[in-house]
Amino acid sequence: MPAHIAGTLHATPAPVWLPYPEDVNALLPSLWSRNVVKNADGVLTVAGHPVTDIARDHGTPTLVMDVDDFKARAREYRDAYAHAFSPEQGRSGADVFYAGKAFLCTAVARWVHEAGLGLDTCSLGEMMIARAAGVPGEMVGLHGNNKSVAELDYALDYGVGRIIVDSLDEIDRLETIAAARGVVAPVMLRVTVGVEAHTHDFIATAHEDQKFGLSLSSGMAAKAAEAVVGSAHLRFDGLHSHIGSQIFDISGFQVAAARVLDLRAQIMRTHGVDLPEVDLGGGFGIRYTSQDTPIPVEEMAAELAEVVAKECRGLGTDVPRISIEPGRAIVSPAVFTLYEVGTVKEVHTDTGIRTYVAVDGGMSDNIRTALYDADYSCSLANRNSNAEPAIIRVVGKHCESGDIIVRDEYMGADVAPGDLVAVPGTGAYCRPLANNYNHVPRPGVLAVSADGAEWIVTPESYAQMLSTDPGMTTSTET
Ligand SMILES: *Cc1c(COP(=O)(O)O)cnc(C)c1O
Repeated sequence: MPAHIAGTLHATPAPVWLPYPEDVNALLPSLWSRNVVKNADGVLTVAGHPVTDIARDHGTPTLVMDVDDFKARAREYRDAYAHAFSPEQGRSGADVFYAGKAFLCTAVARWVHEAGLGLDTCSLGEMMIARAAGVPGEMVGLHGNNKSVAELDYALDYGVGRIIVDSLDEIDRLETIAAARGVVAPVMLRVTVGVEAHTHDFIATAHEDQKFGLSLSSGMAAKAAEAVVGSAHLRFDGLHSHIGSQIFDISGFQVAAARVLDLRAQIMRTHGVDLPEVDLGGGFGIRYTSQDTPIPVEEMAAELAEVVAKECRGLGTDVPRISIEPGRAIVSPAVFTLYEVGTVKEVHTDTGIRTYVAVDGGMSDNIRTALYDADYSCSLANRNSNAEPAIIRVVGKHCESGDIIVRDEYMGADVAPGDLVAVPGTGAYCRPLANNYNHVPRPGVLAVSADGAEWIVTPESYAQMLSTDPGMTTSTET
């Protein structure tokens, strides 16, 4: 074989950030929840349950939640913020609201509440889950850029503790509904402060060219404040800012906090009111691959407490009670998705051979890679491999070439049909964004602890999936 061809075939299509593994069977612990380990035989186990048993008893694909890990992360957030913003340090306390949109079901709502966190919702459906789980209304927030009359009415009936108002239209709508009910609605204003943060970067002068929030620079936020102050049926509790998602850079939060606190001081001065609360949003980044470097929870809390105290000193105001809204950072690391391999193909690319490993799910259970170019890692989960590591790409079963779950990873080259593959970090924005593309039913979420395993979301049956088609008259029992 001519040297240049041999060279081509031995080249690797691995991206530069992906290191060649010393031991392809080893787990990188920081990517996995804390009760996940690999046994000596290479079988991944979660809280003592081998995934081979999980696959046999519960099927694949399945999202597997390490429940104790989830609860521990919720408590860590609560404790870190309670500590950093504690009144003993001259601060006014802090609350953590779990962002339910990341992943919500009644079990999760209950665990979040038991851990002492509030719960953010952004639709009627999410509020119904919170209510059914027994979360008291005052612990619930309602977001959304286009809340319906039904949603606002439900929120007031439920006694939601904060409605984060997103537009001038919504102020009118909420006032009318509150007046009709003879109640006073608790309101925070969502302000866009011109900061847009992503991963390692932020833009301090972002165009406020987006559907969310009331813009600071155009004066819309000030106008909304005036409207809320002037209403007998709205109680003005504070301001809210959310600057992005999967953020590793603290400075975006610092700039946003400074701007929102400045606006708070202006509003309090202009209208002679007190605004007791400021919410700094969510977006705290997590580790999907070895290249991600999240800021430890305590460090982030301490830095935010510092900047809030400093800004308030400079403005000559009191320090408001702070809240934050992590979703991904609490739920994503606690979950992995378990798939079974169906077909394996070696494909020759310009830079070498890439092995396509096709599994029994795909963009219907994890659309983030296709939608946002998200990166994931994965591991062979049912055995050790003695083969050379190969560069693999995990793809789904859908009729779309963008149906990719893990773009680049090393795995033993002998990966074969019947093997199990586990993808960590799938707790957030996977099951909530699941869909029925190609009429594939959505997978369940299995909560696993030392005590056992139970569905907290059951796998969708064919009968359930097809029930919206009036023409489906043949049996759909499976
Ligand atoms: C999406 C969202 C969150 C949660 O974001 P994460 O990245 O999951 O932490 C919090 N607050 C608001 C307003 C959001 O839209």
